[in-house]
Amino acid sequence: MAEPTIYEISSSGRTGFQFHKPDVPCAEIPAELKRDELPFPEVSEVDVIRHFTRLSQLNYAIDLGIYPLGSCTMKYNPRINEEMARLPGFAMTHPLQPLDTIQGNLALIYQLQEWLKEISGFAGVTLQPAAGAQGEFVGGLIMRAYHRSHNDLKRTKILVPDSAHGTNPATSSMSGFEVVNVPSDSRGNIDLEKLKAICDDCVAGLMLTNPNTLGLFEEHLQEVIDIIHQKGGLVYGDGANFNALLGVIKPGEVGFDIMHFNLHKTFSTPHGGGGPGSGPVAVSKKLVDFLPAPIVGIIEEGNDETPPLYGFITPETSIGRMKAFYGNFGILVRAFTYIAMHGATGLRKIAENAVLNANYLKMLLGNAYNIPYNRKCMHEFVAEGFWNDAPGIHALDVAKRMMDYGVHPPTNYFPLIVKEALMIEPTETESKQEIEHFAEILKTIAQEAHHSPDLLHTAPHHTPIGRLDEVKAAKDLVLCCWIPPEE
Ligand SMILES: *Cc1c(COP(=O)(O)O)cnc(C)c1O
Repeated sequence: MAEPTIYEISSSGRTGFQFHKPDVPCAEIPAELKRDELPFPEVSEVDVIRHFTRLSQLNYAIDLGIYPLGSCTMKYNPRINEEMARLPGFAMTHPLQPLDTIQGNLALIYQLQEWLKEISGFAGVTLQPAAGAQGEFVGGLIMRAYHRSHNDLKRTKILVPDSAHGTNPATSSMSGFEVVNVPSDSRGNIDLEKLKAICDDCVAGLMLTNPNTLGLFEEHLQEVIDIIHQKGGLVYGDGANFNALLGVIKPGEVGFDIMHFNLHKTFSTPHGGGGPGSGPVAVSKKLVDFLPAPIVGIIEEGNDETPPLYGFITPETSIGRMKAFYGNFGILVRAFTYIAMHGATGLRKIAENAVLNANYLKMLLGNAYNIPYNRKCMHEFVAEGFWNDAPGIHALDVAKRMMDYGVHPPTNYFPLIVKEALMIEPTETESKQEIEHFAEILKTIAQEAHHSPDLLHTAPHHTPIGRLDEVKAAKDLVLCCWIPPEE
């Protein structure tokens, strides 16, 4: 049952929108910008509302239920964030407005920078990067600029543990480094002996996802940092999953040199559909001069009567601009709201609940699934989606069957160091009841895997679309559903 596209609903002459009478003089649109052949659908308001509401009901969303996508932290996005971002003073401003008309917005940006510094223990922050991965890229460029500024040109390698997020090797490589893999030990920590063996003075730095993608805190964190620093390298912390550590540890104070945050994970701003991402980067004192420009700063101190004047500052040896304007401002407003709403003790509670929920769920599963690196986890854990006594069942079958029970599957087949991985992050916003319900579903599926494997192989059965040919979907991607009519 293919849904009709908006173009198929289109009916010649229908409209759903009337332009306001302009309150500025009309100008002629230059002829070269006009395109007669541009095929806009002609639809009424009710056509559009029904079409997109119908589509939204075919999809799963965090507003419908648990979304335990390990590493991605799909937690609930509070509505107050949306209310604040829609205030006209935030939503209706333009980044090219004169400074004296956007002082409130700049004050918010400045305060958010200050809060992220305080939360992470670093000396400087850029809010520019539009994603965690772009933040990592900024970190890579800062490492490069730092070593170059010391005329240290032999540092061509970045060390990346095999328990790192996939973006870590990708962005290290994008920023011009050779990626050297560091193996994990049997407890899921970095193998210290191997690390010592490969860390030499050609290493620009280490990228450490902590907690790592097994959901585990690096138990020899200080030793790891010291090994890198002793050889003159920098330590980059992938802080995408900082919801596990908020208010508990300040990476800047234990020796990390750079770290990115994911506002669209830790600080409850939407992923995708609800808005763009944001991956601020924090750095230690010796790196603040390399941060991307511009950064919001106070350019004239205030006093009791007048507030400070905010403006833009270009760090002395900045790596340059990374993104248009000053970051995704509407997202910054949401993250600001979230932090303001929780305060210091609330932020720590977030971390406590993220860790508690993951460990509770892991405990509830009992022996139903094998968990290879089974020690106290942080915000997530990784189970195996196969059983030796249930031949032919794969993690994919388990994941698809979960959709029949009305929940979103976890991340699967990642991290690569766990066979048939199911990477599960319940997040801190799920209730005890919801976590227990989810555990029951997982346990039921484990039994089905042994007694009615076909149910898993043919799943999902109750979704708008059954099992997809995922290879074809990836290799033969159709991004535009509008096909021009034949002449
Ligand atoms: C999500 C994630 C990233 C990448 O963030 P994007 O915003 O998706 O680019 C990097 N590292 C970890 C550990 C993550 O979970």
